[in-house]
Amino acid sequence: MKYDYLVVGAGLFGAVFAHEMAMQGKAVLVIDKRDHVAGNIYTENRMGINVHKYGAHIFHTSDKEVWDYVNEFTEFNNYINSPVAVYKDELYNLPFNMNTFSKMWNIRTPMEAKEIIKKQADAEVDRIRKERAADEFEPANLEEQALSLAGRDIYEKLIKGYTEKQWGRDCTELPSFIIKRLPMRFVYDNNYFNDRYQGIPMGGYTALVERLLLIKQDDEKSSLPGSITVKTGVDYYDFVKMEGNIPAEPFESVNGDSFGRILFTGMIDEFFGYKLGTLEYRSLRFETEDLPDVDNYQGNAVVNYTEREVPYTRIIEHKHFEYGQGKGTIITKEYPANWKHGDEPYYPMNDDKNNKLYTQYVDMAKEYPNILFGGRLGQYKYYNMDQVVRAALDMVAAQ
Ligand SMILES: Cc1cc2nc3c(=O)[nH]c(=O)nc-3n(C[C@H](O)[C@H](O)[C@H](O)COP(=O)(O)OP(=O)(O)OC[C@H]3O[C@@H](n4cnc5c(N)ncnc54)[C@H](O)[C@@H]3O)c2cc1C
Repeated sequence: MKYDYLVVGAGLFGAVFAHEMAMQGKAVLVIDKRDHVAGNIYTENRMGINVHKYGAHIFHTSDKEVWDYVNEFTEFNNYINSPVAVYKDELYNLPFNMNTFSKMWNIRTPMEAKEIIKKQADAEVDRIRKERAADEFEPANLEEQALSLAGRDIYEKLIKGYTEKQWGRDCTELPSFIIKRLPMRFVYDNNYFNDRYQGIPMGGYTALVERLLLIKQDDEKSSLPGSITVKTGVDYYDFVKMEGNIPAEPFESVNGDSFGRILFTGMIDEFFGYKLGTLEYRSLRFETEDLPDVDNYQGNAVVNYTEREVPYTRIIEHKHFEYGQGKGTIITKEYPANWKHGDEPYYPMNDDKNNKLYTQYVDMAKEYPNILFGGRLGQYKYYNMDQVVRAALDMVAAQ
């Protein structure tokens, strides 16, 4: 068959793009190498619970247009992310706010909290200046930066171990720019995000993507002027007739389908056969446990473990994202991991070295105007979901 577009990747970016192209009357084929759609926002329903298979996902945005857009495809609940941090046998609210400070120092007012933080932070800056016999304070690493912003108590209990686990290195070996500022709230407010809109799609993220891709046929939105065909378990590199990884135009698949243009949402460096070098990522490992005999494991969807000695960074209890009341529960322990070829690339390492390499790939891509690159892997950007929707809509508008 002759398609207008081949969309590689059935994640959020690919799904929004495909939907909008079908709205414009285009015929779109979407392929994904995984055996399911929705990419990293995939949720799998087990024991009546929507499990966030690739990590906890909370939709939050201040972009009203994006919020209205996603609400056309699903109803969101009123979930507000309010994680809790565990340090040894102590428990604190996040983000850093009056609940955190009050628990840490047994105080009540913002003035008291500000005074303690300032006193501790000033003491650290003085100590470092003296050690270096320097008049000015310039943080030499992340530890010094965090101490100068938050003081010792918050750093030791809530920042140090967690950050070291995330990056796999001591805070003294990490650059200070990773923490530019530490958001602190001097009100009693545990809402982790500052955005105007927030929630979890009722019924899970997979249903949202299925509606975008017109898989849910009961939906009135499935009668669009164009069409979307979805094939999962299909890797791009097995699918196209290739010279290198780039088929000659008009693009063709091994079984004769042809395409006007391609949107690629996989890794851009892989697409070009790593010719210029490899872009780096941080990865994650998830350990999920079904607990049919436990109804409420931790009383909150997200609990962070801030000690370095506990190997995971957080435990997610999925049912709490949707206020689940049923029997049994499912938890996931999240372990940060180094990334190597073949691992799931979760977080782009957007430092100078990698960003420079990425722009070289972008220059290379300019030679192929009929191949578009989108999403967190194609554009090598840490995108939140709302930013993905915005970027996909902008890309559609630019065609
Ligand atoms: C642990 C974690 C937690 C997150 N939490 C949040 C959150 O709370 N809130 C938020 O807004 N955002 C969150 N995000 C970000 C969110 O996951 C992304 O914004 C979103 O999933 C990106 O969508 P995408 O379509 O660009 O990429 P993906 O979802 O990765 O989709 C790309 C798809 O392309 C497919 N693919 C790749 N290569 C090929 C190939 N060769 N052939 C065929 N298919 C291929 C992949 O299988 C994948 O399905 C989180 C991310 C992570 C990693």
